[in-house]
Amino acid sequence: MKIIVAPDNRLNQVSKKIDIVDNTTISILDQMLECMYKNNGIGLAAPQVGILKRLVVVDCNDKSNNKKPLKLINPEIIKLSTENSEFEEGCLSLPTQYAKVKRPTEIIIKFQNVKGVFCKEVFSGLEATCIQHEIDHLDGKLFVDHISKLKKNIIIKKLIKLKKKNKK
Ligand SMILES: [Zn+2]
Repeated sequence: MKIIVAPDNRLNQVSKKIDIVDNTTISILDQMLECMYKNNGIGLAAPQVGILKRLVVVDCNDKSNNKKPLKLINPEIIKLSTENSEFEEGCLSLPTQYAKVKRPTEIIIKFQNVKGVFCKEVFSGLEATCIQHEIDHLDGKLFVDHISKLKKNIIIKKLIKLKKKNKK
């Protein structure tokens, strides 16, 4: 799997729902996790590797010997707290770029697990931020869409430069 770097049209698409959770789905999630760990990420959404499906992996545990992977199929936010938290966000699709983003501190999501079972779970803090960031990817949104246009343009320009440099 290869991570797509912004700006790229594939990162602006709305991903499709998974109808049936099968071995292909599980295999994609496992490969996504591997790709995320390899790149030292804490979250990855399928469109970032060119698969326009509603699949997300997250692991906010910072201890590498104590992994806590989350595999989310068709994740959907059903409740947001009114209280907000600010985290400095980065993204594997926007390498070396960071910005402070304010998002609800706590969320309730529903999703399907690898057995296809519908689950409901509460997340807070960094995990809540990370999951919101990844669900945004499924709707074609990036963290820079939450900051000022001016800051966003600066970051996108830097990424275009970076892409040109890497092509040489
Ligand atoms: Zn991201």
